[in-house]
Amino acid sequence: MKKVIYIILIVVLVIALSLFLIGRNKANQSLESEHIDPTNKPVILLIVDSLMDNSLQQAIQEGRAPALKFLMENGHYYPDFVSSYPTMSVSIDSTLLTGKYPDEHRIPGLVWYNKAETRLINYGTAKEEIFKLGIKQVIEDQLFHLNHKHLSKQTKTIHEELANSGLQTGSINALVYRGNEPKTINLSETLANVDLMPKSVDIMTPTIFSYGAFAQYSPENKKNTQLWERYGFNDPFVTEELKSIIKNDKLPALTLAYYADLDQAVHKDGPQNHMEAIEKVDQYLQEVLDSYRSWEEALKNNVWMVMGDSGQAPVKGDKGESLISLHSLLDAYNIHKTSEPMKDDDQIVLALNERMVYIYSVDKSVKLHDIATTLQEDDRINFIAWKSNEGVQVVNSDKEGNLLFRPNGPLTDPYGQSWTVEGELSILDLKQNNNQLEYGIYPDALARLHSALHSHKGTFLIADAKPGYEFIGEGTPTHPGGGSHGSLHEDDSLVPLIVTGTDTKPNNFRLKDMKPWIEQLILGNNQ
Ligand SMILES: [Zn+2]
Repeated sequence: MKKVIYIILIVVLVIALSLFLIGRNKANQSLESEHIDPTNKPVILLIVDSLMDNSLQQAIQEGRAPALKFLMENGHYYPDFVSSYPTMSVSIDSTLLTGKYPDEHRIPGLVWYNKAETRLINYGTAKEEIFKLGIKQVIEDQLFHLNHKHLSKQTKTIHEELANSGLQTGSINALVYRGNEPKTINLSETLANVDLMPKSVDIMTPTIFSYGAFAQYSPENKKNTQLWERYGFNDPFVTEELKSIIKNDKLPALTLAYYADLDQAVHKDGPQNHMEAIEKVDQYLQEVLDSYRSWEEALKNNVWMVMGDSGQAPVKGDKGESLISLHSLLDAYNIHKTSEPMKDDDQIVLALNERMVYIYSVDKSVKLHDIATTLQEDDRINFIAWKSNEGVQVVNSDKEGNLLFRPNGPLTDPYGQSWTVEGELSILDLKQNNNQLEYGIYPDALARLHSALHSHKGTFLIADAKPGYEFIGEGTPTHPGGGSHGSLHEDDSLVPLIVTGTDTKPNNFRLKDMKPWIEQLILGNNQ
């Protein structure tokens, strides 16, 4: 009898155990089904330089942007993604491609001072500045150094990551493009002979790689790459490339295309007043959608994303007021002359990023604190920040005291990052609510500012201009009466995203969170 009871007990135990295991499996499965379903539709990510929420909405309301309206009505619209800092395209694109801020991807801005090489790095803008800066240096810095020397190898780009999973990607006119496939770009032999540019450059690119005059997919596109058309860094070129890839049925898993023309219009006409330029971008998008039998088919076959990379703040019309001349503010110091090599008696170096500037002390007797005190007298400056042993110091002209912060500590911000913050919180428009930190006019202020200050070596501070103003140095472009960016301010920092073909969204609305989201979308969560 005892035996029978034992057997029954064992059978019950086995059944209970099996039921428990099956249940657990089911629980796992239901968890997994909540994960993002990988898409086998190609993702087309169109970056429209300086696209902003207000003007995008206005253009749509006025019936001037039917393609953008079509995508928005058939997808989701998020008006305020936070860009990286400084709000300059190369740093932002590096963040978009790597999912990291500049402290990790190591592209500090469009212009920065390289301590090891004792020279200013300027990636140009692939626009007018190419000739001004000397074509050889710009080509080397922009085409090669940016992607293969400066952009950290520790941070993989989305192109590299997807290639490692066996997928192809494409990049059209993006300055940051690093991929897994070796490519030789042959440049002009004539110019190489007179040492105006290297003869050829060996680079690593995605499978499909377009880069203005230097690399095209469509043979038709030779005509769009003339000197007066900014060597192919223009919207007709990008449109022709996209159309050609679509018509040949060669869209890879991800295509990133960079529309640069709107930026110039916003610089010239200001953030409120560039409807015609948006109308034009929309016409190019219409052409791309027209590559399909219908726009509905374009929608059905792909995931479309249209996104800005930075906003712009207005710059006041009166030059005397709107342009902050660092040479006059800092005339007590010997300022390095941009067009010359470094000199022994140079004391400070300026690296201007429009509404933001890195100011380097290259003379031990010049203290950052003293430079900050001088700049603090100018009330056109938002804030001045630098690294100290205790953390990041921030001051401005409105407040007597200072703000000190460092990562880790009792306070948590809306992105789940924790901080120690002391002093005058209002300098960065921070609000504290118990253990929660809230941001005001400077989105994700602490992580972005901390990251820029830790993006490269050197003894330097950051000065950041209020909306209405921008910094000028030697021969830097200025935009009185127009628009400008670079600052940590929300005017420069918030960008819109339109997305179709998926109801999922990134963990946070920051450009930094785009990469993991797109990867999940393409690969699913189980990779
Ligand atoms: Zn710009």
